[in-house]
Amino acid sequence: MFVDIAKIKIKAGDGGDGSVSFHREKYVASGGPDGGDGGRGGNIVFAADDNLSTLADFRYKRKYTAPKGENGRGGRCNGKKAEDLVIRVPRGTVIKDAETGRIMADISSDEPVVVAKGGKGGWGNIHFATPTRQTPRFAKPGMPGEEYEVQLELKLLADVGLVGFPNVGKSTLVSVVSEAKPVIANYHFTTITPVLGVVRLGEGESFVMADIPGLIEGAWEGVGLGHQFLRHVERCRMLVHIVDVSGSEGRDPKEDFKTINAELEKFDPELAKRPMIVAGNKCDLAEDEQIEDFRKYVENMGYKFFPIMAAIRYEVDPLLNCIREELSKLPPISRFEAEPLVIEPDKLKKNEVTVRNMDGIFVVEGEWLVRIMNTVNFDDYESLQYFQRVLLNAGVIDALYDAGVQEGDTVSIYDFEFEFVD
Ligand code: GDP
Ligand code: MG
Repeated sequence: MFVDIAKIKIKAGDGGDGSVSFHREKYVASGGPDGGDGGRGGNIVFAADDNLSTLADFRYKRKYTAPKGENGRGGRCNGKKAEDLVIRVPRGTVIKDAETGRIMADISSDEPVVVAKGGKGGWGNIHFATPTRQTPRFAKPGMPGEEYEVQLELKLLADVGLVGFPNVGKSTLVSVVSEAKPVIANYHFTTITPVLGVVRLGEGESFVMADIPGLIEGAWEGVGLGHQFLRHVERCRMLVHIVDVSGSEGRDPKEDFKTINAELEKFDPELAKRPMIVAGNKCDLAEDEQIEDFRKYVENMGYKFFPIMAAIRYEVDPLLNCIREELSKLPPISRFEAEPLVIEPDKLKKNEVTVRNMDGIFVVEGEWLVRIMNTVNFDDYESLQYFQRVLLNAGVIDALYDAGVQEGDTVSIYDFEFEFVD
C-alpha cells in the first residue's frame, strides 16, 4: 500500500546531568568542587533517502527517541555528547508540527535537517563556586530534549505532473517516454501509487514526470475524489492534462477537461493556475472532426494542444519538446521554507513552572521554557526583552517572588543566569 502521510512522535535526547563532586587528594583536607558538565543530548535529524519511496515504515514505528547525553563526572570530566538519531525519509517529505501545522522542514535536498534539538548538558558544581559559596553541593540536570508530534507528508518532486481521468493513458505515456514502468491496464484504478519517470532528451537534458492516480480513482479507496493524490502535483512546475479525445468510454472530452480543472481548483486555487498543456490521447479511436473540435475548444481557452497516441508513442516528441521549452521559462521546483516557532507572550496562559531555592540560587524549570529558550538569542537585546515579557506573562516572576527571591539574588533558568532586579 502506498503511504504518503504519517504521524510520529519524536523526542530529542536530554542533556546529561552536571556532577557534584569535590577534589580529593592525599594530604589535602578538602578540595574544591570539580564536578564536570553533562553532555548534550542527541538531536533528531531527518535526511533524504532515494531508496525510499513511501512513508510506510512509519505506520509501524511511531516513536523515535534520541539518546541522552552522558552525565558529568568528578575530576572535571565532562560527559560525552550523545549521537544524533537520523530518520530517513523519501526525498520530498515535508515535516509539520502536528499540533499547529507549522512547517518545520522540507527534506528535499541532501542536507540533513535537525528538527528536534537535543538538550544542553547541565553544569557541574565547578560553575557554582563563588568566594562565599566554596562548597556548592548541587549541580544542574541536563536540559530536556525537544519533543514534538510531527506530521510527515510526502510531496513528490517532479517537474511535470500528469493529470486526467482514469484510463486516459497517463501511465502509458510515462512508460513510453521514460524507464519507469507503471502498471497499465484497461480498467480504472490501476495506478494507486504515484510513479516518477525521468524523461531524457539527449545532450544531458532531462526532466522528471510524475504519473499520479487519476482524480476519480481514489473514490474506489473511499477517499472522495482522490484529492489526496493531488498533494503530489502541488510542487510540479507545470501540468500536462491528458484527455481521451475519442470519448472511448462514453464521456465527452470537453466535460472531462472541465471536471478535472474544477477538481484542481477545489484542491488548491494555486494549482489551477499552474502552467498547463493539453494532450489529446487515443487519436487512433477518434474521428478527425472530434480531434479538431476539441483542439478548438482548448486553444480558445489559451492552452497548447497536442494530439497523440501514447500506446504507440505517435506524435509524442512534439509534446516533449513543448514541455522542455515551457520548463526552461519556469522557476525551479518549489521548496517549503521552515516557519519559525512564534510564541506570543501576551497569549501565554499561566504556565507550570517550578522554582527551587538551591543555596541561594533560584532555579526555574518548566518544560515549555525549554522550547522558548531554544528560540531566544540571549546576545540580542530585543530577543532578551521578548524573553523577559514571556517570563512576566507566564507567571515566572510571580513564582520567583513566591519562592522568596530578593534583589541581587541569582536566578538560573537552565543555561541562562541573571541577577534579579526588583
Ligand atoms: P491511466 O489510467 O490514465 O494511467 O491509463 P493507462 O495508461 O493505464 O491506459 C489505459 C488504457 O488505455 C490501456 O489499456 C492502454 O493500453 C490504453 N491506451 C493508452 N494509450 C492509448 C492510445 O493511444 N490509443 C488507444 N487506443 N489506447 C490507448
Ligand atoms: Mg495509470
